[in-house]
Amino acid sequence: MRSYIKANERLCLICNESLDTIHSLMDLSVFPSFLCASCRSKLKLHQKIYTIDGLQWHVLYEYDEFLERLFFRYKEQCDILLAPVFLEAIQDSIDRFQKFTVCTLCSSNEKYMHRAFDPLKEIFLSWNIPTQSPFYKRKDHKQSQLSKDQRQQVFKVLRKKEHYFLNSKNILLADDVCTTGSTLRAAVSLVLPQYVFVLSAHPLWIEDHRQMVVEKKGLFW
Ligand SMILES: [Zn+2]
Repeated sequence: MRSYIKANERLCLICNESLDTIHSLMDLSVFPSFLCASCRSKLKLHQKIYTIDGLQWHVLYEYDEFLERLFFRYKEQCDILLAPVFLEAIQDSIDRFQKFTVCTLCSSNEKYMHRAFDPLKEIFLSWNIPTQSPFYKRKDHKQSQLSKDQRQQVFKVLRKKEHYFLNSKNILLADDVCTTGSTLRAAVSLVLPQYVFVLSAHPLWIEDHRQMVVEKKGLFW
């Protein structure tokens, strides 16, 4: 794992609080921490598994204002040091990603040019998990500005790169925010993954899919 220690003192990557003060037994954990207890508690862990069309979708967090601000700081303000924060909660089972070809959803070309980094790829890379990017979008498609009908059009916008070599065994499809799930469903139909993993799902999506939660042990929790 890459090191994000600043000037010999370990600092919370969100609020810069020192991590070298022992507040609780958690601070003595064998796993490295990038967050202070206060910031960690603000992340709304969801850790549920949904079965959608026979496929298990793992959802790590419930998307809320705190996470929205954190993603904004990371993706739009390019605070790239935040990368390891998003998977810290499952670091004891992080090696399980290695069994898969992790395929990440893409931003539009315009976004990529603006940011000059691929935020989702960087999140996995900060834990030494290589990813594949078999998708592209035909034009910038900011979902929050789209009507429901227009979102359905995402199916026509998301494409798999032609001639992209992808080992079709053990594909895990990953995305950062599941809002309506339409992009992910489009991606599922393109690469036929074994699992879907989303860092966070919107509360409305969670509510709409309540019936699909399965009470079983999944890959990461
Ligand atoms: Zn903090």
